[in-house]
Amino acid sequence: MPGLVDNSGRTIRHLRISITDRCQLRCRYCLPEEGVRLLDHADILRYEEILAVMRVALREGIASARLTGGEPLLRRGVVSLVRDLALLEGLEDLSLTTNGIALPELAKPLREAGLGRINIGISSLDREVFRELTRGGDLAEALRGLEAAVAAGFRPVKVNVVALRGINDDIAPFLDLTRAYPVEVRFIEYMPIGPVPSERYFVPVAEIREKLAAHGPFEDAGRSAGYGPAECGQRILGAPGSFATISSVDGHPCGRCNRLRLTSDGHLRPCLLSGREVDLKPALRPRHDPERLRALLHEAVAEKPVSMPDAASDRGRGMSQIGG
Ligand code: SAM
Repeated sequence: MPGLVDNSGRTIRHLRISITDRCQLRCRYCLPEEGVRLLDHADILRYEEILAVMRVALREGIASARLTGGEPLLRRGVVSLVRDLALLEGLEDLSLTTNGIALPELAKPLREAGLGRINIGISSLDREVFRELTRGGDLAEALRGLEAAVAAGFRPVKVNVVALRGINDDIAPFLDLTRAYPVEVRFIEYMPIGPVPSERYFVPVAEIREKLAAHGPFEDAGRSAGYGPAECGQRILGAPGSFATISSVDGHPCGRCNRLRLTSDGHLRPCLLSGREVDLKPALRPRHDPERLRALLHEAVAEKPVSMPDAASDRGRGMSQIGG
């Protein structure tokens, strides 16, 4: 059985694919005030190039893919990309991370095209805080997206909440959300790759768990579907939804890291927190070269750091350019 096993024995099974660097929100934990330089259209991978990468990746042992961005639903033709990906042999799990705004139109077509799971980033349920955090976003639009995802039959719909001290660390409204909808709320540690100062805003998951405990009793909701890092979920007794925490910094999750990231301009990132990238373009243009793609995929896996690169290391791109 072929496989992508790195130097410390981790088997790489998951590929996160950023399909655009554009987004209509400007979340403060994701984008710097001044914005980021957007890629030229010609540099962004075409769908047939993404499919070519995916075909090789599947042969090498990747089994799960997540589309992300920027905002993936802003990219024209995303439903047809999902349809083509879903038809690829060996893809066990196909998911997408979105801000939810376009889901009222797209949730049903995406589900019909074969998308398995959806994550929606909603970092506050307070209208004003949401507007402030996203620099102008409308919470009502995101919530309409969430309802559309539930109505289209996605189970669970995961809700990403990047916890920021003093801003959105009141967890009670999110617990109410789990009482109302079959969603899985995931409280995520803010990663220092974002533009707001960690010293001031970082909330460790241990603290979030303490806050959660005050709202118990809870029952076990089991391990969440997918290939991601969330811990076992819990639910309020009788609630349709559940919640979990994701320790992206404090829990040193590197030992369990099973993923590679593909940027929208065709660079594989072995690690979110290291600026090292492997450019796949030479294996895609002017024509697809599956053997070279395979070699580059293995090169990226071999470059996965064993542990978290230190804070001073060059991280290259920001979260909006890599895909969260
Ligand atoms: N536009 C989509 C969205 O809003 O979810 C997809 C792209 S966004 C970069 C993907 C996810 O990255 C977000 O849902 C958010 O949870 C996460 N994210 C962004 N910046 C982060 C940070 N500094 N720390 C932890 N998570 C972050």
